[in-house]
Amino acid sequence: MTDMAIAARGIDTRFGSFLANSDVTIEVPVGERRVLIGPNGAGKTTLFNVLAGQLRPSKGSVEMLGREVTRKPAYQRARMGLARTFQINNLFDELTVRQNIEITLASEARSRRVFWRDLGSLPGIRARTNALLTEWEFSDLADWPVRELAYGQQRVMEIVLAMSKQPRVLLLDEPTAGLAPADAIRLTNLLAALPRDITIIMIEHDMEVAFALADRVTVLHQGSVLAEDVPGRVAVNQEVLQVYLGDMSDA
Ligand code: ADP
Ligand code: MG
Repeated sequence: MTDMAIAARGIDTRFGSFLANSDVTIEVPVGERRVLIGPNGAGKTTLFNVLAGQLRPSKGSVEMLGREVTRKPAYQRARMGLARTFQINNLFDELTVRQNIEITLASEARSRRVFWRDLGSLPGIRARTNALLTEWEFSDLADWPVRELAYGQQRVMEIVLAMSKQPRVLLLDEPTAGLAPADAIRLTNLLAALPRDITIIMIEHDMEVAFALADRVTVLHQGSVLAEDVPGRVAVNQEVLQVYLGDMSDA
């Protein structure tokens, strides 16, 4: 049997009387690039919150890397190797690129009694920060406050921070949202080049980006899984096309 990075089965997520996820089952084998698409309000971010442990489902179970985690809080799943980015920018704007990375590395090391100005002197953190800056081509921007970066660079920064935790499972919520097409392509290429043993589950609005990256695509619609298949077959799925055309004519 293939090992599953994530196996969520029969997930219901209820907000009052509203079912944001309805009997959702999603199983993602280790190393797969899975893209989650669907119209606004389909329940994609809600499902991420359930997978990452920010929300507890009303029904169903979540396994991560073969372990039952349905009732485990987000920080425990993070310790097991799960990292995520959010639909909205989650950076420390006033701090520099370098400081953002150092804080993330230090919080991972759970070194509680240090102030941010001393972080660079913690053993190992300066070296790992420099390696990340080089790897992601941020060295020239290391001492810039994050708020002065271009929006596209900020979105990449979030992924750098998630990757600094050396995750085994990476959840990305619309990483290319709001990017100019050229930046979206650059980001997609960066993601495509990530080590193949990392499992990536990504919510993506742009079909071209989604289909370029995905091994498989899961389509959510009104809280349920409408289709799941390889990109080439999802792209010609009549039900999926109807949902997307309907979505556009509503807009
Ligand atoms: P998507 O990410 O696919 O656009 P979401 O998962 O964010 O969709 O939202 C799915 C539905 O659940 C939407 O109708 C949204 O308004 C609703 N919803 C999301 N979070 C909450 C919440 N905390 N309380 C009540 N309703 C919510
Ligand atoms: Mg969303």
